[in-house]
Amino acid sequence: MPLKKFNYIDRDGLCIKRVYCKVCGGVIVDSVVIEEKQEKRGDKDFIIQKTALKPLTSYDEIIIKFADGSAHMTPICKNCKQTEDLDLKEIYKADMVESLKEGYSLPFREIKSRSK
Ligand SMILES: [Zn+2]
Repeated sequence: MPLKKFNYIDRDGLCIKRVYCKVCGGVIVDSVVIEEKQEKRGDKDFIIQKTALKPLTSYDEIIIKFADGSAHMTPICKNCKQTEDLDLKEIYKADMVESLKEGYSLPFREIKSRSK
């Protein structure tokens, strides 16, 4: 089963703006405004917003276990976590692609199982 949101992280440059559930495409982490102020620069008014990433109530995680005994944690929504036949291979592939965007690379590993 293909993932609804293979590229599951929205970025603005290097800054993460939003994280989706790879499986269903629902938002699980979002940017929220934590501070807002008005600032005068010269004769212009600017509104400065400080934002932070906030996991939503739908946020959850699974742990993928590999044949070599290693493990990898990945975010997913609460609903999809209940799905028995998740495509772990595709999920891990999506993480490998995202890791490259973060400047590192996850190794190829043989998937064994997942945590509940
Ligand atoms: Zn989901």
